[in-house]
Amino acid sequence: MRLIFLGPPGAGKGTQARIIEERFGARQISTGDLLREHRARKSELGSQAEGFMQRGELVPDALIISMIESELDAHAGTGFVMDGFPRTIAQAEAFDALLTRKGWALDGVVLFDADRTTLTQRLTSRWTNPRNGRTYNTLSNPPRVIGIDDEDGGPLVQREDDKPETVATRLDVYEAQTKPLVAYYRAQGVLIEIDGLAPVSDVTSALIAAVQKRGE
Ligand code: ADP
Ligand code: ADP
Repeated sequence: MRLIFLGPPGAGKGTQARIIEERFGARQISTGDLLREHRARKSELGSQAEGFMQRGELVPDALIISMIESELDAHAGTGFVMDGFPRTIAQAEAFDALLTRKGWALDGVVLFDADRTTLTQRLTSRWTNPRNGRTYNTLSNPPRVIGIDDEDGGPLVQREDDKPETVATRLDVYEAQTKPLVAYYRAQGVLIEIDGLAPVSDVTSALIAAVQKRGE
């Protein structure tokens, strides 16, 4: 299965990508998680990306595209769910060229949508496991013990860019730079639209049904 998950920050892309990875073995490729790993190990790319991420801006296209190319080369052959990539038209065009080169077709581009008030509320109440990117939510999906991951027992953190001022910038950046991808993929006939406001398990069922229907 080869999917792209598109939608604003907080729409539920990461949550659903993990579920699809577990059920179908399609690997979640989160450019946000990859960049945070680079920052944690203080790589050259990590230091180049840091300022952009702290301000809630996009990391330059050239850095993201080469990161994705090496990621796909390292894991050739497996299916994927692109979570948070592409985020600009330039990234989408580069990814189209890469897919053509590899001879891979997409099974769909899933657009998750939700209103700005809900997105802001979800992001400011999101808690993340920095070791693997798993998220919880103090309002809709709290961990059993506040601040502790249910599965690995380690601490959860609130991402620095999930504070209200940076969230507002990220939502504006989505509108200006990423939303044009909706028309781009609609024109290719691959767009699948899903209501991101439904409960997590309903979103999963709707998305699986829509992807399977498209494949018929
Ligand atoms: P994204 O990857 O699109 O930024 P996440 O999957 O991290 O979004 O979800 C953002 C926050 O909202 C997380 O705290 C997550 O637990 C919560 N969340 C995800 N999906 C839903 C949903 N369908 N209903 C309520 N809360 C959700
Ligand atoms: P969310 O899904 O909550 O928006 P991500 O973890 O996907 O957050 O992204 C966090 C930050 O990483 C973004 O604000 C941006 O600075 C950077 N980033 C992630 N993916 C990309 C991308 N495809 N292009 C440019 N910047 C990116």
